[in-house]
Amino acid sequence: MMKHFFSFFFLFLTLISFGQNDGQNTYTLVIHGGAGSIMRARLTEERQQAYTQELKHALDAGTQILARGGSALDAVVAAVKVMEDSPLFNAGKGAVFTAEGRNELDASIMDGKTGKAGAVAGLRTVRNPIEAARRVMDSTKHVMLAGQGAEEFARSQHLEIVDPSYFYTDESWQEYLKVKENNEKDGRKGTVGAVALDKNGNLAAATSTGGMVFKRYGRVGDSPVIGAGTYANNQSCAVSCTGHGEFFIRNAVAYDLAARMSYLGESLEKAADYIINDKLKKQGAMGGLIAVDKDGNVAMPFNSPGMFRGVAKEGKPFQVLMFRE
Ligand code: ASP
Repeated sequence: MMKHFFSFFFLFLTLISFGQNDGQNTYTLVIHGGAGSIMRARLTEERQQAYTQELKHALDAGTQILARGGSALDAVVAAVKVMEDSPLFNAGKGAVFTAEGRNELDASIMDGKTGKAGAVAGLRTVRNPIEAARRVMDSTKHVMLAGQGAEEFARSQHLEIVDPSYFYTDESWQEYLKVKENNEKDGRKGTVGAVALDKNGNLAAATSTGGMVFKRYGRVGDSPVIGAGTYANNQSCAVSCTGHGEFFIRNAVAYDLAARMSYLGESLEKAADYIINDKLKKQGAMGGLIAVDKDGNVAMPFNSPGMFRGVAKEGKPFQVLMFRE
């Protein structure tokens, strides 16, 4: 009798531990720092180290929240904020300049559990646009606020306001001058983003950008457009994109990935690879995306020379990548 009791007890323990390993109670965080002409030859060892450090810092900020059972939403905001505050990325500090020599910032966030979303476009004085997007989601009945209205809203929410000069970096300015003087069509792009699956099985996605260098006054890219640059749904996946925004809007890229999974039953990896390396590539659209599905599977395809990216999974060391390793 006692023997049977122990056998059942051990069987019970084994079943519980299997349950914990099947993707339920574990977290995943994926981040990107933009896709573009990131080539090994052009990025010094020192710069690579600086990027690696910043990406790890962002992973760390997000995983600290996820590890203690915090929400995917809080984690993606924390990770994106680290990259917005870094001069290395085209978002927040370090944003590229518009044709008039100003910075106009866009950001968005989506909650996979509730389907709620928030976005801001054309901000000029808000230090962390992702915080403003989150407040639009949490504190208004709207999805997107733009320009002066978005600025005033951020102020009313007591978010940190900075002088426009805060966003200046020498690197972005030199790039602006280069594009202006050489009449170049295509300058550096880039964006930052994060997607996460938390221990409660909830998904979230966040994206923030300075947009395209030398963009026209008022131009809005895909990053703040829900379904284009950002999307999350607990039934399928969470997605954050980077690349030539006009193409990502026209192709509703982030939603297309979730839709292919839901309607066609495709795996995350298959759907993501098709969209970036087939559909967009055929249109001449440069870019990539990061995504995580409800089971913790990760996809990070890009059709550009490189994409700054990182993955954190419970119990595993951080993975940071830049090129086609
Ligand atoms: N998608 C961004 C935009 O078009 C830029 C980028 O990610 O490279 O605004």
